[in-house]
Amino acid sequence: MRKFNFCAGPAALPEPVLRQAQEELLDWQGLGCSVMEVSHRSPEFTQVAETAEQDLRDLLAIPANYKVLFLQGGATGQFSAIPWNLLGGGSKSADYIHTGQWADKAIKEASRYGQVNIVASSEDRNFSYTPAADSWQESDDAAYFHYTPNETIGGVEFPYIPEVKSPLVADMSSCILSQSIPVEKFGFIYAGAQKNIGPSGIAVGIVRDDLLDRALPGIPRSLNWKIAAAGGSMDNTPPTFAWYLSGLVFKWLKAQGGVAAMAELSEKKSALLYDFLDRSDFFSSPVAKDSRSRMNVPFVLADEKLDKLFLQESEAAGLLNLKGHRSVGGMRASLYNAVPLEAVEALVAFMADFEQRNG
Ligand code: PMP
Repeated sequence: MRKFNFCAGPAALPEPVLRQAQEELLDWQGLGCSVMEVSHRSPEFTQVAETAEQDLRDLLAIPANYKVLFLQGGATGQFSAIPWNLLGGGSKSADYIHTGQWADKAIKEASRYGQVNIVASSEDRNFSYTPAADSWQESDDAAYFHYTPNETIGGVEFPYIPEVKSPLVADMSSCILSQSIPVEKFGFIYAGAQKNIGPSGIAVGIVRDDLLDRALPGIPRSLNWKIAAAGGSMDNTPPTFAWYLSGLVFKWLKAQGGVAAMAELSEKKSALLYDFLDRSDFFSSPVAKDSRSRMNVPFVLADEKLDKLFLQESEAAGLLNLKGHRSVGGMRASLYNAVPLEAVEALVAFMADFEQRNG
């Protein structure tokens, strides 16, 4: 019996995708073995790779002058790959917005290779908002401008796309494929797969092709986007099962109506939960209203002594993984694409009942 899973990542996957993977696990495409047991260079797997890329291109309307990369090392690998690939083109400095723990990790990594200019920070209010664009201290000669459109831990999401002078780089790990985006406004988009794409072990990169000639000398081969692009993301053995499963998720997304349908659903799901939080005297959201994430909804109980009971009872009610990140405490419900509206309805009903019994 599958339960409602609100995990921040690795997160819920669409049930039909898991069923298909189960059905074809032992004998994939009549080959008498699984997709994990064939060469990544076989015609069958090449087809998987190419179809996944095309489906992702269709879903996000990725222009032809962008390369789609399937990468290893997670989004964290890209925290390093970004400065390695972009700081060798002249400018040795980069702009970063500091909005929470993921931005912080990206900043720390980039600082090892070049000069980082913190354009704005929301640290003064515990990363509970997005700094207003008119307060940013942008530099004139940055190699790129990095931001985190959705901070998975803080549950803070930018409600707009920054207009900046240098190539815009975005960590979309926890919001990719949840709404349509004008890809042409970005230099590089990246995301670890394990939230809205597929299982962990693979990351997606979308890079404008004129940015492929700016690497620092000595860049590690495995981080080099140009090599990845030239070799179809197969310079070395890719995580084939994760790639295959991501491809099934892309097909599922298309069948659901694509990212426009996901955007509508995400609006509905998150509004249901935020409206409830705002009406309650018992639960509350710590995030500024204009920056509330549609994907990750942190919330706190008025009395934190009840946290343990809340988690025990919610789990028993079939609502999994509501514990907030270990660094911030409280609760967090992640509402990625594969989390159905019924899951949020069940969560809100449970919370209303919990409030009545304990409030
Ligand atoms: N960026 C964001 C916004 C994330 O949420 C995460 C993972 N939760 C990461 C980066 C790190 O991803 P990975 O574990 O794939 O390195």
